[in-house]
Amino acid sequence: MIHTTHAAFGAALMETILVAEHAPITWQAAAAVAVAFTVAPFPDIDHPESWVSRHIPFGSVVSMFIRHRTLTHSLAVTVVLYLVLFDMGFHVPTWLATGIVVGWTSHWLIDLLNPMGVQLFYPLLIWVRPPIPWLAIGVESPGEVIIRLVIQVYAVALGASYGFLHLPGSVRETGRFVLPYVSRLIEAVSLPWLADACRWLHLTA
Ligand SMILES: [Zn+2]
Repeated sequence: MIHTTHAAFGAALMETILVAEHAPITWQAAAAVAVAFTVAPFPDIDHPESWVSRHIPFGSVVSMFIRHRTLTHSLAVTVVLYLVLFDMGFHVPTWLATGIVVGWTSHWLIDLLNPMGVQLFYPLLIWVRPPIPWLAIGVESPGEVIIRLVIQVYAVALGASYGFLHLPGSVRETGRFVLPYVSRLIEAVSLPWLADACRWLHLTA
């Protein structure tokens, strides 16, 4: 996937978690979404031609030492990142730590659709790939264009719907014709298991 797909999925996943948790709409919640959007492309610093490698100083150095979709795409690095941000006493604001961890996690989650897969259990050299070949989506393939569009539409619709439901009753009344669709989307995303798991991990804004 290219950086725009990763950024969109990072934001979409963060929004999904906040909606599942019925989180209040605050600047911290918005910032967590913005952080996940920004961080999501970063694991591709292990590829010399990636957008991240080309746009940050010395960005291509990492790819000289680390093979693409291995260490930076692993559970191990995600867990270390989580522990550093949440458990090392650095007092990182929760919204910031959450945005970073969710953005980073979203990256390898969607890269699992790559035909080559990712070395999720690095240092074990096992490539985790889509179980069914037709599920695989190549980089910049028509499949990626479609999935990116779907994610972008979902992220915008989810954010707008959640915002709409938090408007004052009188304002909401003027747009009541969209209320059934908005409520249905929010209901579909209100996954108790996701909210419980993320609250247990302190992943909230
Ligand atoms: Zn990647």
